[in-house]
Formats: sequence, C-alpha cells, structure tokens
Amino acid sequence: MAGKRKKEITVVGLFDNLLELIFPNHCRLCDSETGEPICRKCLNEFNPIFPPLCKICGNPLRDSGMEICQDCILNKPRYILCRSPFYYNGKLKEALALLKFKNKIDLFPAIFKGACEYFRENEFLFPAKYIIPVPSHRQSYAKVNNSTSQLLAQAVSQASEIPVLECLSHTRKIEPQHKLNSKQRWENVKKAFKVERSDEIKGRTILLVDDIITTGATVSECSRALSEAGVAKIHVFTFSRTAGLERKKYE
Ligand SMILES: [Zn+2]
Ligand SMILES: [Zn+2]
Repeated sequence: MAGKRKKEITVVGLFDNLLELIFPNHCRLCDSETGEPICRKCLNEFNPIFPPLCKICGNPLRDSGMEICQDCILNKPRYILCRSPFYYNGKLKEALALLKFKNKIDLFPAIFKGACEYFRENEFLFPAKYIIPVPSHRQSYAKVNNSTSQLLAQAVSQASEIPVLECLSHTRKIEPQHKLNSKQRWENVKKAFKVERSDEIKGRTILLVDDIITTGATVSECSRALSEAGVAKIHVFTFSRTAGLERKKYE
C-alpha cells in the first residue's frame, strides 16, 4: 500500500513538473495564465481573521465586549500574544500543501506575501530580538531543512529585518500533529522541545513562528521550553489558524 502511494505521488510530482515546464506562467493553484506562481485571485481567496480577537491567544471572540477568551482567563499562556492573519482552509490550505507535501519551496515568497504584509502593518505587536521557527516533526526524525515554519521565519525576517535563530529542537521523535486528535496532540508534543544556544536568548524578547496553530499544543510546549531556558518575553506569529481552537483542554 505504502509502495503504491509513493508511486502515485511520484507520478503526480512528475506531471506537475512537466506542467511547469510547458506552462511556466500558470498559477500553481488555479492553472490560469497570470505570469505569477500564485495569482492575485487565489491570494485574495485566503480568508482573513477579523476582530474582535482575544488579546492574548488571538482567537476570534463572539462577544465584542470581552477582551480575553475563557481559555486564557482559566490558563494564561506563557506567551504574551499570538496572532495569525488567515484561517487554515480553502486556497490557503491548498497553497500550504504545495510547500509541505509537494516540496514546491520556490513558492514560499508568493504564498507568504500576505502574511508579511500583515506582519509589517502590525509589527508593533511583535517586538523581538530573534525570530525562532517551530521545528517540524520531520526534524525529530532526521536533519532536514526547509520546513514551512523555517520558510515563514525567513520571509518574516526579510520583511522585518529581525534575524532568525534556529535554537529549538526535539528531545525525542514526534508524530505529525495533523494525524492526531486534540488529546493526542497535547500528549505527542509534551516536553518534546529543547533549546540550544540558550545564552543568546536568555533575558531576550523573541518571536516564535509556525505555519498553523490548531490546538495550540506545539506553540505552548515550545513556549515552555523557551521560558525554562530564560527567555523573558515570547510573542507568537502563525501564518494560519483553524477555527474553534480548543487551546487549553488537555494541558
Ligand atoms: Zn490562481
Ligand atoms: Zn485567548
């Protein structure tokens, strides 16, 4: 079964590469000829997250009279705030899949363009000495480069001139979070991160970045490791978030 699946992916990959050779100017999401790797129409279909938002975790609030959500009142996060410009659905989900599963690394500036614009407009929310990407589950198995969080960190660094410091790694192997339910996600990443080069971040304010926030388990555990290593203040920026986040349920 696994062999068959691998073969299918390879054939699809070859077909994609062939299409790009024949039609170099087509949008990789809708195939229209626009001269851009991801067209403006597709980028405009990324769904922005509108206020009111919880001042801490950035989750949309139903009641505009509230400032902080129930989760954050019951369990205040270790980070100061978390913000994400878009929902993880529709065209954005397709675009991230190109980076994550089809290795279309060269598309990252186009895909993260809107996120960088949001970051520049809201940079006052994220004062930081360093941008620190969340390591991907693949990096817990082998030394691999170009995870989506590293690519996002690179894009945000170029937009803000805040340098990237890759100082988080795994204490053990972890499973891909998207294959697990909410409770399993918290268990999967519990105490799974460690900090290297802690001298450089001790007493500093840092920005943690990831491509998606779902339950918040990964961000929470990375924040725990960073706090224990002596980081003074943590801000979080994620490209996207799923709706209806059950952030603190299993912590
Ligand atoms: Zn398009
Ligand atoms: Zn909150």
